[in-house]
Amino acid sequence: MTNDPLVERMRAFGTTIFTEMSALALRTGSINLGQGFPDTDGPREMLDAVARSGPANQYPPLYGIPALRTAITGHERRFWGLERDPESEVVVTAGATEAVAAAILGLCEYGDEVVCFEPYYDSYAASITLAGAVRRPVTLRPGPDGRYRFDEGELRAAFGPRTRLVLLNSPHNPTGKVFTRAELALIAELCQAHDTYAVTDEVYEHLVFADAPERHTPLAALPGMLERTLRISSAGKTFSCTGWKVGWATGPAALVSAVARVKQFLTFVNAGPLQPAVAVALDLPDAYFTEFRAGLQARRDRLVTGLTEAGFTVLPSEGTYFVTTDITPLSDRGGADFCRELPARCGVVAVPTEVFYDHPEEGRHLIRFAFCKREEVIEEAAQRLSKLKP
Ligand SMILES: *Cc1c(COP(=O)(O)O)cnc(C)c1O
Repeated sequence: MTNDPLVERMRAFGTTIFTEMSALALRTGSINLGQGFPDTDGPREMLDAVARSGPANQYPPLYGIPALRTAITGHERRFWGLERDPESEVVVTAGATEAVAAAILGLCEYGDEVVCFEPYYDSYAASITLAGAVRRPVTLRPGPDGRYRFDEGELRAAFGPRTRLVLLNSPHNPTGKVFTRAELALIAELCQAHDTYAVTDEVYEHLVFADAPERHTPLAALPGMLERTLRISSAGKTFSCTGWKVGWATGPAALVSAVARVKQFLTFVNAGPLQPAVAVALDLPDAYFTEFRAGLQARRDRLVTGLTEAGFTVLPSEGTYFVTTDITPLSDRGGADFCRELPARCGVVAVPTEVFYDHPEEGRHLIRFAFCKREEVIEEAAQRLSKLKP
């Protein structure tokens, strides 16, 4: 027997960078702009609804309570014009994370390939690996204007006879990129040409800033994609309740059923007492979503000013909770070393994006800051960062 009982395919996955960096933040009393969770509560109507929801302490239905399923499909219709049946085309999951994992476990045979974009959200690689599938990453690189792009030839080459699905996250963590309509059209064309599914992670669907070149478009809204796309989202980011872990997947009944049949043996059900409150939140008036986005944009702008003054090259953040910066003007060392030293230098924690790549050299000089924190926290962080000025 070997010392590490963990299955071999998971051994490359150590503790995540967030664990290391959050411990460092605590030890040094630094402001933690590493992990992306808000430090304020979500909408009052949602929190009140939890208190009001009364006894909901037993197993809810596998697919989620009817009120929440109806709210999810109603919300998709209201914002994105998508039509899904609340009876058979939506399943509630333990966060978007479980939806992604259950989708990959439920759809991929051993050796099937998953096309994804690097840098990617860290759970993707682990879920693909757990399923015995193979990832085919396409690299997002900042262009001359700072906006992240992928190479069309690289994407075309990533699709092949073993491709089962493309896993797309837009608005994109960690880059803050919002995939354009033209980029989505190319992805849709390739999905149809190769007869693959698409799984989309849209947890930042409401966080595209007013100055972004394009609004968010779900891939499912493109011609020919409704019938082959599983769309995933979650309450955590939109309603500032990341600890609730209430997510969902919507799509054709067969895809949703594949997720549900795996989910029933992972968690079966989750968050019974919270499900009615998320239904209330999804039905909030447009003003909630607009104000949430505007408030976050103001905090982004304050942090970006601080980062620019500090000497970073700041890449445009079109959406999400995050902004990435190029550290080249400040250091010729990699982002990982830079981030380990940053707390001692100025009392702020960030994360190196190289940990989100299969080709870490592509992100060696990039680091990510989260701005989903209270105004005064962002203000203090911006002032501390200005001490870095060479
Ligand atoms: C935060 C995040 C998730 C996780 O969502 P949960 O609902 O907390 O599971 C998934 N995908 C991306 C891109 C995220 O940033």
